[in-house]
Amino acid sequence: MTETARGWLTGGSVGFIPTMGYLHEGHMSLVQAAKRECEICVVSIFVNPLRFATDALFAAYPRDLTHDLQLLSDANVDIVFIPRVEDIFPPQFATYVVPSGTLATRLEANYNPNYSRGISTVVTKLLQLVRPDVAYFGQKDLQQVAIVHQIVRDLNIDVNLHILPVVREANGLPLSNRNSALTVTQRQCGVALYRSLLAAKALIEHGERRTSIIKQLIQDQLASIPSLAIDYINICHPDTFIEVDEVVPRTTLIAAINTRTTHLVDSITWLGNDHWQL
Ligand code: AMP
Repeated sequence: MTETARGWLTGGSVGFIPTMGYLHEGHMSLVQAAKRECEICVVSIFVNPLRFATDALFAAYPRDLTHDLQLLSDANVDIVFIPRVEDIFPPQFATYVVPSGTLATRLEANYNPNYSRGISTVVTKLLQLVRPDVAYFGQKDLQQVAIVHQIVRDLNIDVNLHILPVVREANGLPLSNRNSALTVTQRQCGVALYRSLLAAKALIEHGERRTSIIKQLIQDQLASIPSLAIDYINICHPDTFIEVDEVVPRTTLIAAINTRTTHLVDSITWLGNDHWQL
């Protein structure tokens, strides 16, 4: 990969999509954007062991390389980078990227202590290896997006970040690697989570700005569903994840629930006027 990347300068702009594989339409929307905007499109498939709370969760992560390679070949991706764990983490590996501050220590980081360090270390390494002009990420993982922005700024990584909207099923559930493992009830809970955010959106569109009221609405909607428990509801700035008292343009509503063993997160962002990232 390093040798290939040395040749980039002559080939045109490079768009890069880091993934953990088991690809679906959500991933492919990032690929299509890179194909549109760059001359060379690189996709990595690497199930990042640092990112998981336990070894068992890492081992249970779904994988289907044959299907992934077929999708990427159909999309005419130029390079698929599939490093082995021992390539990325050789035995003497000892340097981690560990962001601090609210962004890296709250919300998802509370549920998985490895979350920020796992993302930051591997994204930094992949950007070093691939050296893209543009890296593509999905808004679906909003906290990941904020962490990646932070490390790119803090470590002066020379890359542009393009963030793309969430691709959802018709019922509103975000496409995710884990959807196929959800029970019918868990899927319904995921849909209810998105609907509660849409109810909050409607309230904001009616002029409500107080986050205490908006949060209460989300909470009431979710509390009416017996098979889920609320992990968190946050109304915050999307760059810092610091909570706000009043909704202003560029405010994110992010909420997470758990339904038996599954933790589901969803978010929407108000950009101002009638513009939303859903
Ligand atoms: P993952 O393989 O889950 O690490 O995801 C790789 C990239 O695809 C990340 O930037 C995700 O945010 C993005 N992604 C995953 N699911 C979706 C989706 N439903 N819509 C848009 N982007 C997505």
